[in-house]
Amino acid sequence: MIWQKIKYKLKWGLRDIQSFFGVSFSTKIIDGGVRVLCFHGVCRDEQSYINARFLKESHLKKLLIAIKNHFNIIDLETYLNGKYSQEKLNILLTFDDGYKNNKTLLLPIIEELKIPVTLFVLARENMPLWPDLIDIIFDQQKQKLLQQLYGIDNKEKFKSWIHHQPTHIVESVTDELKIIAQPFLADYKEFWETLSKEELILLNEHPLVTLCNHTANHYNLLSLDQKQLKEEVEVCSQFLKEINAKFPDVLAFPYGFYNAELCSTLDTLNYHVRFSITEGINTDEKAINRLVINPFISIRNQLISIVNGKY
Ligand SMILES: [Zn+2]
Repeated sequence: MIWQKIKYKLKWGLRDIQSFFGVSFSTKIIDGGVRVLCFHGVCRDEQSYINARFLKESHLKKLLIAIKNHFNIIDLETYLNGKYSQEKLNILLTFDDGYKNNKTLLLPIIEELKIPVTLFVLARENMPLWPDLIDIIFDQQKQKLLQQLYGIDNKEKFKSWIHHQPTHIVESVTDELKIIAQPFLADYKEFWETLSKEELILLNEHPLVTLCNHTANHYNLLSLDQKQLKEEVEVCSQFLKEINAKFPDVLAFPYGFYNAELCSTLDTLNYHVRFSITEGINTDEKAINRLVINPFISIRNQLISIVNGKY
C-alpha cells in the first residue's frame, strides 16, 4: 500500500516536471473511444476537503475547461446510442449521490461552459448519508465517541464494518452518527445536504442535466435480499418516472459494489445499464467502469489518467 502511494507520487511528480518543461501528452491513441468519469460533490474554494469525493469549485471549473478543450463531452443519450465522435476521446461526466451543491455550485459552471452532465440521485430527501456523517465526525475529531459506541475509532475500519451490516443496523447507526454530528451539520452543509424533490424536478427540465438511478437509500446492494434489492432500485425508478426523467432505469451501484449474481437479478428486473467505479472490488464486465476523479492531483495528471483510463 505504502509502495503503491510512493509509486503514484513519483509518477505524478515526474509528469508535473515534464509539464513545467513544456512536454505535451498525446490524446491521439484513443480517438473515437469513450471514458466515463465519476464525480460526487462540489465545495466552495475556502472550504477544506474532509474527504476525497469533493472538488473545490475553481478546481472543478479548470478541470472541466481542460476536458472540454482536449476531448468531446457527450450526454447520456449520445453515450447509450453510441453515435459519438471518432476524431476525439469522448467523455461522459457523471456525478453521484444527488448533493445540493450539484445545483448551487456545479450547475452555474456547466451552464457557462455549455456541457452536459448525468446525475445519479437518491430518493431519500434531507437525510445525510453515513459516509458524510463519518467524515464530519472525524474532521471534528470526535472519533472517540465512535470508539465508545462501536469499539472502532479508525475511519477505514469503521467504513468497512458498516458496509457489511444489514439495513436496519445501517439506519440505526446513521441515526446515532447524526446525533454526534448534529452540532456541526450547519457548518458542513455542502458536504451532506441532498437535492429536494422540487430541485430535482427543476434539474430534470434542464437541457444540460440527465437524472438517473442511484437507488432509494444508497445501501450496499450486496447486503440486501432479493425483495429489498427490488424495492431499493424500484423506489428510485418510480420517483424518477413520476418527474418524467428520461432514463429512470439507468443505475449506478452505491459504493461501486456489485457481483455477477446481483447483475443477473438486475437483468430480470430490467435494469440492464449499470455503472460502477474502477476502484471497486471487482472487474465484472456486466457493469460499465467509471474513473473516479482525484482532487489531489494536477489537472495535467488527471487528463493523462483520463486518456489512460486508470491512475
Ligand atoms: Zn454513491
